[in-house]
Amino acid sequence: MVKSNISKKILFWYDNNKRILPWRKNTSKEQKLYFTFVSEFMLQQTQVSTVIPYFKRFVQKIPNFKKLSKTNDQTLMKLWEGLGYYSRARNLKKSAIMINGKFGGILPSNFEDLKSLPGVGDYTSTAIMAIAFNQKFIPLDGNVERILKRVLFLRSDGDISKENIQISKNFFGLSEKASDYAQAIMELGALVCRPTSPLCEKCPISMNCISYKRKDFFLIKKTKKNKIKYFEANIYINENKMLLVRNKKFNFLKNLLIFPMNEIDKSKFNSSAKVKTKIKISNIDMNIVINKNKIKSTNKGVILNRKNITSEVIPSFTKKLFRVASSNV
Ligand code: SF4
Repeated sequence: MVKSNISKKILFWYDNNKRILPWRKNTSKEQKLYFTFVSEFMLQQTQVSTVIPYFKRFVQKIPNFKKLSKTNDQTLMKLWEGLGYYSRARNLKKSAIMINGKFGGILPSNFEDLKSLPGVGDYTSTAIMAIAFNQKFIPLDGNVERILKRVLFLRSDGDISKENIQISKNFFGLSEKASDYAQAIMELGALVCRPTSPLCEKCPISMNCISYKRKDFFLIKKTKKNKIKYFEANIYINENKMLLVRNKKFNFLKNLLIFPMNEIDKSKFNSSAKVKTKIKISNIDMNIVINKNKIKSTNKGVILNRKNITSEVIPSFTKKLFRVASSNV
């Protein structure tokens, strides 16, 4: 009874407060499946406000799974340029190829088949089951986890373990309106139960919330350590030309254009007197020594004219390194 009250309160709030987002448009069933799939890939590790313009451009140019499966990599990467985590784009296309082949062009509607698609893990599969197929699943993203930590006042390491958070999802109960309910809980976390300064006076479940009763909203986080690595980057520039290589060497930014780089040890990094910078990329804290050189005829790689690089996909990482090199060396 209490749980159905909670779902009613949250759904009522959602009906009156949800954001208008391009992937929530009332469209055909086929388009809803495609929009949900693309948006869920884009939203992995990325905020809604960043995703919106990318999503609009993407679905305008590539409106369905069939077209996606046939889109060339250069066009795909260009549409993804700046969004980061480029493996998502590659997996999106691989998934479309599999949907067109193995699944007859239709997004599968069961958890295991969804999970067999490249780039679809437990979370994405759960989200698609709920949002696209109205099945009674509650996806556990950062927003949902934050609400649970607060309403149930989860504070110890055991409380916030993956297993306990999964069990704690029972707090929400389930709803026949599964698609709306999944989105409503995530929306409540994003708009009201914000990481800092939660807007409890606007919250439909404040009466069920232990943190609210205690006026203590502190969140315990699992400590996740980034890897610390050291690199030497060779920035080759001649007037308007620069030399980049297609990255086959490192696990980050695979097949994208980066400056030639080597991993070095900490002592070499510390003893270098050259310009240094720090860039964080996924879970790596990169410490980089910058060497600036002139391009020689013996250099191998892709030579780009800096004034005319719009046809190439240049990751933000490469642009940042270039800016540091230009302003400091
Ligand atoms: S009452 Fe406040 S802390 Fe509790 S769930 Fe709502 S917004 Fe979050």
